[in-house]
Amino acid sequence: MTSPTDRIPLDARAGTSPRWPAYVTASLACHAGAAGVAIVAPQAWPWALGAVAANHAVLAAGGLLPRSRWLGSNWTRLPAAAAARREVALTIDDGPDPEVTPAVLDLLDRRGARATFFCIAERARPHAALCREIVARGHSVQNHSDRHAHTFSLLGPKAIARELAAAQETFAAITGEPPRFFRAPAGLRNPFLAPVLQRFGLQLVSWTRRGFDTVQRDAATVLVRLVRGLGAGDILLAHDGHAARGADGVAVVVSMLPALLDRIDALGLVAVTLPEAARLEVAATSATAS
Ligand SMILES: [Zn+2]
Repeated sequence: MTSPTDRIPLDARAGTSPRWPAYVTASLACHAGAAGVAIVAPQAWPWALGAVAANHAVLAAGGLLPRSRWLGSNWTRLPAAAAARREVALTIDDGPDPEVTPAVLDLLDRRGARATFFCIAERARPHAALCREIVARGHSVQNHSDRHAHTFSLLGPKAIARELAAAQETFAAITGEPPRFFRAPAGLRNPFLAPVLQRFGLQLVSWTRRGFDTVQRDAATVLVRLVRGLGAGDILLAHDGHAARGADGVAVVVSMLPALLDRIDALGLVAVTLPEAARLEVAATSATAS
């Protein structure tokens, strides 16, 4: 049976990961080999078990390291062509937030900068107008899961597919265009994610640098973390949802964004959305929607 999400036309360029990442294929071979050893040479079973345990440790580490590529394709930087154009990507997670997101949009507008908002579908549904405003003001809304469950990296393949499908359908319905990019909650994942991403034509994106602005209340500290070594092709992570507040009660992203945009300008960089960096076509439906 085909779900509505299967029928969404997706661009193969966004889903460049193999059906199973090489390390996952090797892991399956490791398990099969260990089972074979246990059958053919029962006395060697502790070695076989040790190999499987070591393999699981590496798989777990791959899922716990947000920037690793052991579990499949994962953008930690923009493609080389985007870097050559001196592009950088601001990615803003966990919204939309009815108070913080509009302030972020105003700051971006003032500077002509564009950003990608990795939104949580559960938050987008009651704030659909705000989601549409993000897109109308030249930015991009992408998939940051349906519920942002802290157990996301423990889900099996069917539950992962349900999370992604619900979010794809929500964002396609709200903005007129299904997302092409996915960021895992807290960046944590497991080996089941890559084939699901490929099914939906989604490219996994992590980041080059993050400011930890959900816990760090000092905007200057967050800014230093984001601009240290800033250069073309970087993907920066900040938060409009779950945002820490400074002593003045203002969300850290709002306090530090003007200085971050100053630095981007000073370095001759241009802040673009992820679809722009990937040169993905914008669907005619969204371009002509009234
Ligand atoms: Zn998040």
